Amino acid sequence: MTVPATNGASSNGNGHVDDHASAAGFSTKAIHVGSEPNAATGAVIPPISLSSTFAQDGIGNHKGYEYSRSGNPNRDSFERALAALEGGSRGLAFSSGSAVTATVLNSMPSGSHIVSVNDVYGGTYRYFTKVATVSQGIQTTFVEMDGAEADVSERVNAAIRKETSLVWIETPTNPTLRVVDIPLIVKLVRNHPNASKDIKIVVDNTFMSPWFQNPLAHGADLVMHSVTKYLNGHSDVVMGAAVLNDEAWADRLAFLQNSIGAIPSPFDCWLALRGLKTLALRMKAHGESALAIAQFLEAHPSVETVIYPGLPSHPGHQVARRQITKRAAAAGPTGENGAFAYGGMISFRIKSDPADDGPADKLLSNLNVFTLAESLGGVESLIELPSKMTHGSVALEDRIKIGIGHNLIRVSVGIEETADLIKDLERGIKAAGL
Ligand SMILES: *Cc1c(COP(=O)(O)O)cnc(C)c1O
Repeated sequence: MTVPATNGASSNGNGHVDDHASAAGFSTKAIHVGSEPNAATGAVIPPISLSSTFAQDGIGNHKGYEYSRSGNPNRDSFERALAALEGGSRGLAFSSGSAVTATVLNSMPSGSHIVSVNDVYGGTYRYFTKVATVSQGIQTTFVEMDGAEADVSERVNAAIRKETSLVWIETPTNPTLRVVDIPLIVKLVRNHPNASKDIKIVVDNTFMSPWFQNPLAHGADLVMHSVTKYLNGHSDVVMGAAVLNDEAWADRLAFLQNSIGAIPSPFDCWLALRGLKTLALRMKAHGESALAIAQFLEAHPSVETVIYPGLPSHPGHQVARRQITKRAAAAGPTGENGAFAYGGMISFRIKSDPADDGPADKLLSNLNVFTLAESLGGVESLIELPSKMTHGSVALEDRIKIGIGHNLIRVSVGIEETADLIKDLERGIKAAGL
């Protein structure tokens, strides 16, 4: 028996929510786009299509699927749902966030040039400097993209060359949460006298998720995600995705997705689609708790600095305010002095010698609710020491330059009870003996 595939807009219309043209709200799209009831069985949740191949009624006469690397119903469902949330016409899913980076880079001409934010995700930095440069002769200039507008303009303008094919933004950055003004970078790139008209602007939106930030609306050409983090949200899938409106580039990336083959499994796509359905609820909870914890830390006598863009003390606070989606800003909460929820990531420095990891070590080993681990974006709270964990491979002088001493701690605030998280941090800070 052949079970018709629920493929894109060809669903039976029962409970159908238009992808991006629809005026439906965020969670309505997250729950319905890609999850239309199965035409053959009525199943409300799409079945997992594990089949690697699909029967044809005659040569070339198929129902949209031939072979699962080229296309799979679960991957389609996830891609359509995420595209709707980011406000793009095309979504493409990959086996990891890193596979998105590799595939996007493979769509760039060899011998071309990239302008990248300086403290880009470590794996992205590694791909630019140790892979793209070797296999494609692509050179990357790393630029500090936060700070006073005149300084950012001068640095970005100086970095762009006629062979620049790609500008890579990540905001906020990791782990020092610097905020890049996306519309400013877009304006600089589009107005640059030497810039090619084909230059592409990518934003890695992993830290914010589409709930808090929609880079395509600010003029970016492509938004990429490590789905591993907030989008799936339950720390049980490694996956990546890209969303864009540029049809020609999307066709090329889809071709590379199939040719390179760094595709996610149907089960991972199914899990990640399930994750998307609660994205808004989770992000609101992450944001609300993170704001409360950031304010608690800022008031703590043993804490030197708290880095959270929603706090008025953050240098990128005003840019963050302009860049946050209207729906996230409206959903609140807001705190003292105009503080607001801006994602679930916080970094803070304790009052200890940046060259001594002893106090941070004591803090991190005296927590009961937070788990000491790398990664982020799951429902459970994680905590880590970037200088020895996620950023342990960054050269000491570079670490010092970007402010990653042994007293800098990064937190991924989960959605447990806020009071339990604060109590846990209180205990840890006490144990550090500051
Ligand atoms: C984790 C991460 C990546 C890489 O994604 P993987 O799914 O681990 O390959 C890229 N960018 C950012 C900002 C990340 O946090």
